[in-house]
Amino acid sequence: MAHGFFHPDMKLFIDHRVDWTRYFHLLRGADIEIDAEIETYRSILGTCGDICADIEAGALGHWHEEVRLEDGIVAVPPHIAAGYDKLRGAGLVCLTLSPDFGGFGLPILLNSHYLEMVSRADTSLMTILGLQAGVAGDIQKYGSDELKQRYLPRFAAGELQGCMDLTEPQAGSDLGAIATRVTEENGRYFVDGSKIFITNGGSGVHLVLARDGATYDQSKGTTNGLSLMLCPVELPDGTRNTVAVTRVENKMGIHGSPTCAIEFDHAEAFLLGERGNGFRAMLDLMNQARIGVAAQGIGIAEAAFRKARSYALERVQFGQPIVQQPLVKSMLTTMALDINAARALLYRTCAMIDLTDALAAYLASGRDDAGDRTALQEEHERNMALIRFFTPLCKYIGTEVATRVTRNGIQIHGGIGYMAESVAGHYHSDAIITTIYEGTSEIQASFALREMSKGALFTALDATNAELAHLDERFPEETRHVHEGIKAINDSLPGLMTDPSYAILNAKHVCDMIIDVVVAAELLLQAEVDPSKLVAATSFIRSRMAMVGMHAKRIQAGDVTRLDRYTKILGL
Ligand SMILES: Cc1cc2nc3c(=O)[nH]c(=O)nc-3n(C[C@H](O)[C@H](O)[C@H](O)COP(=O)(O)OP(=O)(O)OC[C@H]3O[C@@H](n4cnc5c(N)ncnc54)[C@H](O)[C@@H]3O)c2cc1C
Repeated sequence: MAHGFFHPDMKLFIDHRVDWTRYFHLLRGADIEIDAEIETYRSILGTCGDICADIEAGALGHWHEEVRLEDGIVAVPPHIAAGYDKLRGAGLVCLTLSPDFGGFGLPILLNSHYLEMVSRADTSLMTILGLQAGVAGDIQKYGSDELKQRYLPRFAAGELQGCMDLTEPQAGSDLGAIATRVTEENGRYFVDGSKIFITNGGSGVHLVLARDGATYDQSKGTTNGLSLMLCPVELPDGTRNTVAVTRVENKMGIHGSPTCAIEFDHAEAFLLGERGNGFRAMLDLMNQARIGVAAQGIGIAEAAFRKARSYALERVQFGQPIVQQPLVKSMLTTMALDINAARALLYRTCAMIDLTDALAAYLASGRDDAGDRTALQEEHERNMALIRFFTPLCKYIGTEVATRVTRNGIQIHGGIGYMAESVAGHYHSDAIITTIYEGTSEIQASFALREMSKGALFTALDATNAELAHLDERFPEETRHVHEGIKAINDSLPGLMTDPSYAILNAKHVCDMIIDVVVAAELLLQAEVDPSKLVAATSFIRSRMAMVGMHAKRIQAGDVTRLDRYTKILGL
């Protein structure tokens, strides 16, 4: 059986759900051989899929192997190093980086396919590659020409890796509590402080969020006054910088991904972007990383689903394969639909990010061959608001789906799924972290709620209504259910307004409802081009729109005493 890493959902999206003509026209003008470009993308992803199948085979049986700290050097297990070398050998690292520095300038959509494949093959390895490209992307966007020339070609060649140093013991979700200090001395910058839980902390380039010494006391407790600093392990003159890995953590999963404690002892660093305004620059990297972690979650879920499906076909109980048991069939179907939904939201969000990047490139150019600039500017602003709304939703659903799907994967394996050597168990242990790092699910839900209150919800629902209007005639029954779902959401909104704490209390349900209606429309759009997808779309709509109605009713009731009851139940 084909390994299916570069799978039909990705191909359908690339072939039918992206307006490549408009994208390339905005980005580069006329005279582009679009078919040839798309063929190159397909070829990159096809090669990546083959290599990922090889990486997956090489990783089997090595899941427990831990990262080690040897004389201050972080050593990843051999299968991780081998996987990295395979991708690097094929030139498949830092794919989104501009060709000016040796990258492919790959759209985010294609990069998310790449990350999903690598995650399915070996999710620990994915953390290293995802951060490498993210860090390089931030240097490309915020670094001086000198920094770009110094570091980016080495990132593209795979010689340099990167990490993102935010978390401190007292500053996790609350980055306003960051205490690491950056001081300017005669035009040079030096970082002092400690960071914890830093993925790939043994890499050559650290992007550190540190509090500017000049405004240290005034800015304490806020995300103002933070600067984003590029702190290299080796200084430009070839001497070693005073940044050190002091510990490597043992974890319940992603054993092959280094998680490090870092000390900066007056380490020299270089400013990225504006001094004191580093949180904004870091947000770019974090948003890109959130999209990456959503893809990571989907990759793990896909691996777990495939394993569970094949086990259910083989395992015989009561004289027949367990897949014939309605309850097992239902679990597997829920897993498949969950993955479908998370993918649909991620892919369409990525396509919107790509189009918006192309719009920005066009607006920044002197060209005027792609339509009314004022209208394009408005479209850009509207898209940016939607991207701020949908990015946390992608992270939230992609990772929550990963934990649900992998949990069901264990259940389908029965007792053997609970054994230490069970791959089903490994997937679940790996999946859980995705709901925690790059901002927990609770933080993503709160971010989405904040964007929603700024008007993004109405923009999103207007767009979904427009999509449904196009589908009404073809799929009247299905679209009727989705229209009802949208009405239920609208009816529930006054309930949310009663009290801010009540709105936050319901944030996850609100996210689920919005995701469900947006995804429902997307699945129908996909069924329009591939009728074989209609059965899954219909099942999704039937089960999820019922849930939307239920959540909406509960929210609409506006029972603000719920929080008081919780306080009593918990004895607080
Ligand atoms: C394996 C691993 C790798 C990591 N990699 C990196 C990395 O590369 N770089 C980096 O900088 N950090 C990294 N982290 C840190 C990670 O981003 C944080 O652990 C995460 O943001 C949560 O912070 P915390 O652990 O302090 O939890 P806390 O912030 O203490 O949260 C604890 C609980 O409270 C909830 N909570 C907190 N505040 C709120 C709120 N306002 N509303 C609702 N719920 C809330 C959280 O959702 C969570 O359930 C990594 C962590 C791990 C475990």
